[in-house]
Amino acid sequence: MYNKKAYELGSVRSVIRELFEYGKKRAAEAGADKVYDFSLGNPSVAPPAEVEEAIRDLTTTTEPVKLHGYTSAQGDQGVREAIAEYIRESFGVPMTADYIYMTCGAAAALTITLNALVADKGQNVVVPAPYFPEYKVFVEAAGAEFRVCPMRTEDFSPDMDAMEKAIDSSTAAVIVNSPNNPSGVVYSKECVERICKLLGDKSAEYGHPIYLISDEPYRELVYGGEAPEYIMNHYKNTVVCYSYSKSLSLPGERIGYIAVSPEAVDAREIYLAVMGAGRALGYVCAPSLMQYVVKRCLYLSPDIASYEENRELIYGALTKMGYDCVRPDGAFYLFVAAPGGDSEAFSEKAKEYGILVVPGDGFGAPGYVRISYCVAKKTIENSLPAFEALLKEYK
Ligand code: PLP
Repeated sequence: MYNKKAYELGSVRSVIRELFEYGKKRAAEAGADKVYDFSLGNPSVAPPAEVEEAIRDLTTTTEPVKLHGYTSAQGDQGVREAIAEYIRESFGVPMTADYIYMTCGAAAALTITLNALVADKGQNVVVPAPYFPEYKVFVEAAGAEFRVCPMRTEDFSPDMDAMEKAIDSSTAAVIVNSPNNPSGVVYSKECVERICKLLGDKSAEYGHPIYLISDEPYRELVYGGEAPEYIMNHYKNTVVCYSYSKSLSLPGERIGYIAVSPEAVDAREIYLAVMGAGRALGYVCAPSLMQYVVKRCLYLSPDIASYEENRELIYGALTKMGYDCVRPDGAFYLFVAAPGGDSEAFSEKAKEYGILVVPGDGFGAPGYVRISYCVAKKTIENSLPAFEALLKEYK
C-alpha cells in the first residue's frame, strides 16, 4: 500500500524537467552548440562575491557547533531581526522578528503558508493565470481546491471580473506573483490596488479575511521601470513568501522566509499556525549556514546587467522576426504567443530546431510558450537563425 496521489506526482516528471533532460540527451548526441535550452529558470549569474566571502568568513571564524547546529524552528533570532529591519527600512512596514519565519526557499514558504491558512477541506485558493505550475501541487497538498482565474492577454494582468467571480465565501487566499513567472510582467500599482480593493470588499462581504499570499522570488529582478509594489503597504492581510534563490543566485542552497504582516487580522495566530505547519511538514529549521550568510547580504543588489542585456536581445530579435510577446519588465522570462496557436505542438516543432521552450499549458496559459533567458548570451545569439527558420514553418 502506498499513497496513490503521491505516487502520481512522483511518476509524472514536470514538463520543464522533461525538456531539460531531453536537452542534455540531445546535447550529448548532436553537440551542446546545437541545443538552445530555454527551459529552466536556473540563474545564470554567479552569486555576488560577498556571498562567497561571507561563506568563507563564517566557516573560518564561527564555532562549527554553532554554525552547523540547529537554529530555532522559526530561524535564528539575529537573522530574523536583521530581515525585519531590512523590511522596515526598505518598505516602511512595521515588521518585527516575531513575524519572520526562515524557510527552505519560496517553495517551502508557500507550502507552509498554505498549510497554515487553509482551515478546512472545502476551501479554495484563487490564482490568476499565468502562474508557477507548482502552485497547483502545493494548494492541493494543503487540502484546498486550486481555482484559476484567467489573464488579460494584452498585458498578462489578472482579469478582475473573472477574479471577482472566482472568489467566494470559501476562499482562503489568493496567490499573486510579481515579477511573474512565466510572463516576466510586473503588476502596476493600479493593478495591485484593484486586487487589494477586491479582496477587502470580499472579506467584508463574507465576514472573514481573505489572505493575499505574495510570492516574491523575483522582487529585485526588475529592469528600468518602477520597483514592484510592496503588497503589505496596500493590504494588511498579506503573507509574503520570499526567496534568495534568484536574487542571490542561490537556488540550490534553499533559503528564504515567510513574512506575516503584523497588521493582519489574527497576525499572531497566523504566525503560530505557520510555525505549526512548518513543524508538521518536518522542516525543523532552514539551513543554518545560509541563514547567517543572507544576514550579511541583505542590502546587496543582484547583478542583473546580463539578464537585462539578454532581455533586450531576445525580445528585440523575436519581435522583429514577427513573434508576438509582451515586453517583460522583470524576472528572466519571455512569454510568447505560440505561432499556430498550439503551444505543445509548437514546443515539439521547436525541438526539431534544437530550441527548448516550455508550453504554457502548465502555467494555465495554453497558446503561449515560456522562454527562460537566464542563459549565456551566446546561446541566444546562436539560437536566432533557428527561431527565424522555425517561424517560417508557420508562414
Ligand atoms: N515561486 C516562483 C514564481 C518560482 O518561479 C519559483 C522557482 O522558480 C519558486 C516559487 C520556488 O523558488 P525556490 O527556489 O525559492 O523554492
